[in-house]
Amino acid sequence: MNFIDSHCHLHDSRIISDIPWIEDRAKIANVQYMVSCATMEDNFELTAQLSKDFPSILPCFGIHPWFVDSISDKWKELLEYYLLTYPSGIGETGLDFTDKTCDRDLQIKVFEHHLMLAIQLERPINIHIRNAWDTFIHILKKMGKLKVPGLIHSYSGSADMIPMFESNGLYISFSGSVTNPKAKKVVKALKRVSKDRFVLETDTPDIYPYLPEPKASHLNEPENLPAIAQIASSRISMAFEEFSKHAYNNSLTVFHSILEGKKDR
Ligand SMILES: [Zn+2]
Repeated sequence: MNFIDSHCHLHDSRIISDIPWIEDRAKIANVQYMVSCATMEDNFELTAQLSKDFPSILPCFGIHPWFVDSISDKWKELLEYYLLTYPSGIGETGLDFTDKTCDRDLQIKVFEHHLMLAIQLERPINIHIRNAWDTFIHILKKMGKLKVPGLIHSYSGSADMIPMFESNGLYISFSGSVTNPKAKKVVKALKRVSKDRFVLETDTPDIYPYLPEPKASHLNEPENLPAIAQIASSRISMAFEEFSKHAYNNSLTVFHSILEGKKDR
């Protein structure tokens, strides 16, 4: 049984020096591919380098909504350069209105540009949405259906919205937050999502899952993905094998174009 970590950050300074070992452990745990998302211009090059060094690392390039203040005058050119130079997806991008003082207009402008690129270049997109669902739905309706599937990472929205996202070409990604024994909303969402529409992620090095034997460092890594799948499948009473197979096949569908592009190199 194989796994794909559909959203993680392997460039993160807390883990970057351990990547060869993290990659090894992922392999042993049957995590075949890891989709590593950049978060700002500063880590585009490192993310590209990781994807060159490791065949198992699939890169995404984007500006995370938390870091829209960091953009330079040439961010659009730089983003396009990396997207056109490497077989890659778009992200992490999105909207996060949790911090009431954030610049919402700038977040919307930056996110809309990412969505436009996803549609124009036909690339998968890795989307972060927190406390901004109405705005997100409004933008989705305005931009039209995605040609290539995208995903909403570590889904925190209501179960009721899922059919609408699915019909807009989106997949729903579940992280270690689904392993929290107190998580009710996210389990409800997992029950609602179609079998051919959910994927799994770690969001490494964050969202450390609730594991029977947690590591003291609490730094998450892709090798934890099968444990997340195990707990998630039991919470919706689906067999672990069946659950994992769906998640794997769905991720292959979402990231198909990056895998094909990597093969050609
Ligand atoms: Zn993330």
